Amino acid sequence: MSTQQPAARLYATAAVDLVKVYGGGDTAVHALDGVTVGFTRAEFTAIMGPSGSGKSTLMHCLAGLDTATSGQALLGGTDLTRLDDRLLTKARRERIGFVFQSFNLLPQLTAAQNITLPLDLAGRRPDAELLDYLVTALGLADRLGHRPGELSGGQQQRVALARALVSRPEVVFADEPTGNLDSWSGAQVLGLLRDAVRDLGQTVVMVTHDPNAAAYADRVVLLADGRVAGELDRPERGAIVEALQQQAVMR
Ligand code: ADP
Repeated sequence: MSTQQPAARLYATAAVDLVKVYGGGDTAVHALDGVTVGFTRAEFTAIMGPSGSGKSTLMHCLAGLDTATSGQALLGGTDLTRLDDRLLTKARRERIGFVFQSFNLLPQLTAAQNITLPLDLAGRRPDAELLDYLVTALGLADRLGHRPGELSGGQQQRVALARALVSRPEVVFADEPTGNLDSWSGAQVLGLLRDAVRDLGQTVVMVTHDPNAAAYADRVVLLADGRVAGELDRPERGAIVEALQQQAVMR
């Protein structure tokens, strides 16, 4: 991936020699130490690695939530590191979907209002057919008038998923999306993420420490010490656990 153009065509999002240094001098932390990795369109990728390996920093830089020290953070053909704050906010709002561990729904709005909020803010109308499809596929049809406080954790995360998907973003970034869910609700959310990739051609990049969650992905990218340390294609749980154990032994 030596130039921007092939990356722009092949990948929904990509990091090119991405460096992020926190602080300076003797106490500088190289959270990302030259990461080059691409995330293919319509693929579900899990980012894994030990605590402190740079997973969150990589996701935040690719999602325009944090600024890199050097290198490129590509969204399609756009290098986010070159955008000013206004354009970065616009790119984040219009081209990226987010699913967080803590759901991040607005408590005073109904499920329906939460789902369409990002589109409303952007002055766009939701695609009625897609909205219908998502509400049915996510099992939310009889919950649309409820506020988040009246919904279970799993239902709240499915609302967050509908909100992320309804704008057909170029990438959905999911940050430990099952971290606050019981295993049954978590499995449901992961299955729905996988369906969105398969049925809607959605690109999903998910940070997780859970091998069960990562086994839903098409590919696992392993980080260690701010670098890409390996990857697994079509990973099964056993292979993921083994790779993580090997990583732990190497440290
Ligand atoms: P992970 O998500 O894999 O646990 P992070 O991306 O959160 O790793 O962190 C990578 C490294 O960067 C860690 O050493 C962490 O302590 C450091 N780090 C992350 N955020 C900050 C920050 N805001 N200020 C200073 N150091 C940070």
